[in-house]
Amino acid sequence: GAAAAPSLALDGVTMRFGGLTAVNGLSFEVAPGKVRGLIGPNGSGKSTTVNLLTGLYVPTSGGISFRGRALGRLPPHERARAGMARTFQNLQLFGDLTALENVLVGLHASFHCKLWQVALRTPAARREERALRARAYALLRFVGLERSAFELARNLPYGQARLLEIARALALAPRLLLLDEPAAGLTGGEIEAMSALVGRIKAAGIAVLLIEHHMDMVMAVSDEVTVLDFGKKIAEGAPRAVQDDPAVQEAYLGK
Ligand code: ADP
Ligand code: MG
Repeated sequence: GAAAAPSLALDGVTMRFGGLTAVNGLSFEVAPGKVRGLIGPNGSGKSTTVNLLTGLYVPTSGGISFRGRALGRLPPHERARAGMARTFQNLQLFGDLTALENVLVGLHASFHCKLWQVALRTPAARREERALRARAYALLRFVGLERSAFELARNLPYGQARLLEIARALALAPRLLLLDEPAAGLTGGEIEAMSALVGRIKAAGIAVLLIEHHMDMVMAVSDEVTVLDFGKKIAEGAPRAVQDDPAVQEAYLGK
């Protein structure tokens, strides 16, 4: 059948900082329920690309569209509301809240009751609160953290904190998830768990852009891989083909 309409599309995106071209004429697409790996040596433009997608930067030229809508200068919070979620290279959790409460913070974006209803604990507010807690717990189960629901985030082992960050991003019910080095600092077993989780996210129909240095993970979970070097796309395609591409090997060996 016909390929699904892309969730995300970059068309000739360029970003200059003064005389430096950090991203140079970049185009790629991510379809719903697909994982695109974005790799490249240090300084090749991966983080700049993420910052362009989330709206922290506006491209010098070229365009980005999300779910069929040109993003232009749409600010970050409106991109998030439109269904774009991200995780950060450095963890940004609320350490003094439990794992469950961290997810609830994300879910409260979709809270319908008025503040006065919450304050007076009206039946409607209590019903909604119970539903949100059930949803938060289901998200913790989805990422494999149900046994840590009532631990303070700051007491979680690093690998679990990374999973919690993903649960919180999923609380926004995103259509696109930007994962910025989700396996950084994880042990071998934790990387396997993270890979399996990305597989479940993809199976839920969410488009995923995966930036990651662990090649085994990128190659195992990506449907397609885009390779950057000095801001330019130097290769793109199925993981195996990209891995064997001489230009890719040279870009990595040259560093
Ligand atoms: P990567 O994430 O692939 O390591 P980056 O996107 O962080 O690469 O950086 C790409 C290039 O752009 C690098 O040369 C970097 O020094 C430069 N760069 C990134 N952000 C800025 C900025 N805000 N101002 C000036 N130069 C930047
Ligand atoms: Mg980076």
